[in-house]
Amino acid sequence: MYGPGDVRVEEREDPKIEEPTDAVIRVSASCICGSDLWPYRGFDPADHQVMGHEYVGVVEEVGSAVRELEVGDFVVGSFVISDNTCEICRAGYQSKCVHGTFVAESIGTQAERARIPHADGTLVRTPEHPGPELIPSLLAASDVLGTGWFGAVAADAGPGRTVAVVGDGAVGLMGVLAARELGAERIIAMSRHADRQELARFYGATDIVEERGEAGVEKVRELTGGLGAHSVIEAVGTQESMMQAIDSARPGGHIGYVGVSHDVELPGGPLFFSTVHLHGGPAPVRRFLPDLVRRIWDREIDPGRVFDLSLPLEEAAEGYAAMDERRSIKAFLTL
Ligand SMILES: [Zn+2]
Repeated sequence: MYGPGDVRVEEREDPKIEEPTDAVIRVSASCICGSDLWPYRGFDPADHQVMGHEYVGVVEEVGSAVRELEVGDFVVGSFVISDNTCEICRAGYQSKCVHGTFVAESIGTQAERARIPHADGTLVRTPEHPGPELIPSLLAASDVLGTGWFGAVAADAGPGRTVAVVGDGAVGLMGVLAARELGAERIIAMSRHADRQELARFYGATDIVEERGEAGVEKVRELTGGLGAHSVIEAVGTQESMMQAIDSARPGGHIGYVGVSHDVELPGGPLFFSTVHLHGGPAPVRRFLPDLVRRIWDREIDPGRVFDLSLPLEEAAEGYAAMDERRSIKAFLTL
């Protein structure tokens, strides 16, 4: 990304093994994330920034210290590099690994090849090479599914619970899927777009709320006997969406916030009197990856339907434009 609104595909040098714990992968498919739109729209800085942090691919080369992976393995990776051995990783917070780095910052997987540091701790291999029909779902696990899943877990979604989901982008839709898989009784998707409402229902939403802000909160209260939801997944990252999430939760409720926060300031008074649990941040996708890969492999879940546009990598700029203009929920990039 040369600058806001200016995405170009160009030749770069092939990555090489630099550390013994590295792997180099040939990327089989990549995609564009809602969070890539923040710099595209000029809300985050971008100056010749490599792009992309979601990826699946085939291991082409491994460093001498890599034990769990072999050349030829098909792998899914998290959007944060992790060693998966430090105390923070072992506690399940691989996105805050002491050796953690964001793939988006320095690697950029909207590319043909990528060097993945701490390969054993970052990548998960599939049982065999997947057929083409499974690749979109495995790619979704790399970020949006893993992030929606963390949102649902952080929101304490489960049997007997009503889960409200703020945000109808890919992560919100994956939050709906995760809430259903975790056994939620009722799932309220907050969306005003017909195509996204339909997908939310496909993934398990039982109710749709079109209103936003205070009116949206009122609707959720109406649907929950005036109490609010047990669990709320916040998947946008703005002041309005965060307050909508907090106000939609019942006393003692849980909010899993996974929308990348932009200029959100929480007011102490309302927060104090809300008596809610807040838990979120960059999702430790690596914690969930082995389980998610298995569920996809066994055809229990179909997260790949979240991609509604497929383009060759060379046309990535059109994918950004389509998502920016909301013509597409999420763009898949073929290689
Ligand atoms: Zn770690």
